[in-house]
Amino acid sequence: MADLLLENIYKVYEGGVRAVSDFNLKIADKEFVVFVGPSGCGKSTTLRMIAGLEEITAGSLYIGGSKMNDVEPKDRNIAMVFQNYALYPHMTVFQNMAFGLKLRKVNSKEIEKRVNNAAQILGITDLLARKPKALSGGQRQRVALGRAIVREPNVFLLDEPLSNLDAKLRVQMRAEITKLHKRLATTFIYVTHDQTEAMTMGDRIVVMKDGFIQQVDSPATLYEQPRNVFVATFLGSPQMNIYEANLLEIGSLGISFGENHTAKFSKTKAKQLSDKQYIGQKVLFGIRPENIKLAASGIKATVDVVEHLGSETIIYASVSGLEKNVIVKIPTDYDIVEGKELYLAFDMDKAHLFDVVTQQSIMGVPDVNRVPCTIENNELVLNGTRFDLPESIREKFFDFTLRDVSEIRIPATEVRLDPTPDCIHIKAKVDFTVQGNDCIAFYVNSDAKDGYFVFRIKTSYFEKKAALDEGSDKGAPEVIPTAGEEIDLYVPFKEITFNSAVGLRLNSREKISDNTADCVVKTEKGKTVIKVGKNKLVYDDLGVEDGAYTMKLISDKIGFVYDKKYAKKNKVEYVPADNAVKAKAYDEDKIGDKNAVFCAVSGFENYVTAVLPAAFSVYKMPVFKLVFNKDSFVLIKK
Ligand code: ADP
Repeated sequence: MADLLLENIYKVYEGGVRAVSDFNLKIADKEFVVFVGPSGCGKSTTLRMIAGLEEITAGSLYIGGSKMNDVEPKDRNIAMVFQNYALYPHMTVFQNMAFGLKLRKVNSKEIEKRVNNAAQILGITDLLARKPKALSGGQRQRVALGRAIVREPNVFLLDEPLSNLDAKLRVQMRAEITKLHKRLATTFIYVTHDQTEAMTMGDRIVVMKDGFIQQVDSPATLYEQPRNVFVATFLGSPQMNIYEANLLEIGSLGISFGENHTAKFSKTKAKQLSDKQYIGQKVLFGIRPENIKLAASGIKATVDVVEHLGSETIIYASVSGLEKNVIVKIPTDYDIVEGKELYLAFDMDKAHLFDVVTQQSIMGVPDVNRVPCTIENNELVLNGTRFDLPESIREKFFDFTLRDVSEIRIPATEVRLDPTPDCIHIKAKVDFTVQGNDCIAFYVNSDAKDGYFVFRIKTSYFEKKAALDEGSDKGAPEVIPTAGEEIDLYVPFKEITFNSAVGLRLNSREKISDNTADCVVKTEKGKTVIKVGKNKLVYDDLGVEDGAYTMKLISDKIGFVYDKKYAKKNKVEYVPADNAVKAKAYDEDKIGDKNAVFCAVSGFENYVTAVLPAAFSVYKMPVFKLVFNKDSFVLIKK
């Protein structure tokens, strides 16, 4: 299995360049994921951190369930293909492909088998005896892929592998890499700045900008439901038209823009407006060139420039009151000439609206449902409806965080129509659906939330469901539910994040330990001495009888001191402290505005969970000292 999990990954280069920030992504086994974004957005850095060629500043990387932060690149069972695939000029294709295996001391029979097999997959068997200079660019690229294939890795990392090839060859190799992925049935992560490559190759695309993930979705969903202006305009060619407009409700919802031009939304589309407060306000209106048609009447425009591309015609037209041209893409029409006047009709069901300031989408399928809630007596309360909080979730909270939960976030992709273990069951009624290319979005009403609850299900789910034997479907729908239908929804607790009023995550990813250890208390010269494991703690008289006790640490009352050397290097104040005990970090997790640290401490059989300042990271200082002040623990007599 080679599934990957990247949790809160950061990369800060020396000198302070923040290349990657809070990168969170699950990649399924055998998935083809593409990282795309403009140059400098952090794609390669992320890939290099996965490969182990770049240190991870903070966060966790798991491959196949094992933590990889500190694992050597050669032990990660991954292979990387670069843009500059330097082949050894003096070696034949066979030798080039065999070289890495030889270094690893694989026996020659096995090498021969693997190289021949890879050559066959890539269709380069005839070239095995040739030297690189006798190969075309595409053939060399295949050899570079071959070098990766022979290693039989669990994960392929490809960093702009086609950018040195000419346009025609790129198109051909694109298809070949897609086929190769199917054939090898291995996880592929592919980096490119080319949106066409991303759209044609990925099962899922991660769009990045300035080190932050902008959106992760299938190509179709990204194109149809971009989360913000950046994603909307980055994907698609020519790019989406974006104009400032006023959102109005005169009878029905519509926009006005330019010199008194108007366009209206359908009733169904109007319902997708996320917040009625936008009515009467300035918004950004977006429409793709192919969603504008020529019509007999409508928005009057004059053709400024026209491009006849053979299969289609691209029109750059001016519209009164708009500074920018409106770009229109229509099937080839040689009658369109510069200076011609025509009328444009917008397909408003395909239009987009964005907030002027945040540039986030305000109409369409949201990524997450934010549901106000409280937690009372181990129950999650949503709009008066109560759900038992299972033990598997409760153990991921600190007492002090549980109290602060005021909102849960449910990703639109994590709502199921089948029951799963430890899930919320919600009865809902479909109000309307939005059909996408590869998925369908449901807008439903339920008791659990005021307003719509929105989720997306892949169309293939229903196809698979219909193909299953009768009786195995546990009552989940086989056909796509339609408006008015009552349905059962299931949300696995593990996909829910619990947040504070100011949007900080409050549930930990790891189980919070019970923080207990056996200890012995003895009064010596008026002082209370506690022995726990190898640690000896000395306090002014605590007024505790001598004897055997259980020490229970209180997570958010444990102090800590920086290591002296670390403090000096990072210019933080070094304050020595009494009763400082050595701790060795396992992991950390940002909770609220703090960092929850999971670490080994002598005497504590299980790990200790300490809530420390957010500025402290175990990745910078894996061995450190916790301070057990007298209010950091309670003693329970045995
Ligand atoms: P991309 O692959 O998306 O083009 P990179 O991951 O290469 O982007 O770079 C992301 C950011 O990190 C850029 O601002 C880049 O200048 C910076 N960067 C990359 N490598 C280093 C390095 N070794 N030292 C300092 N800054 C770097």
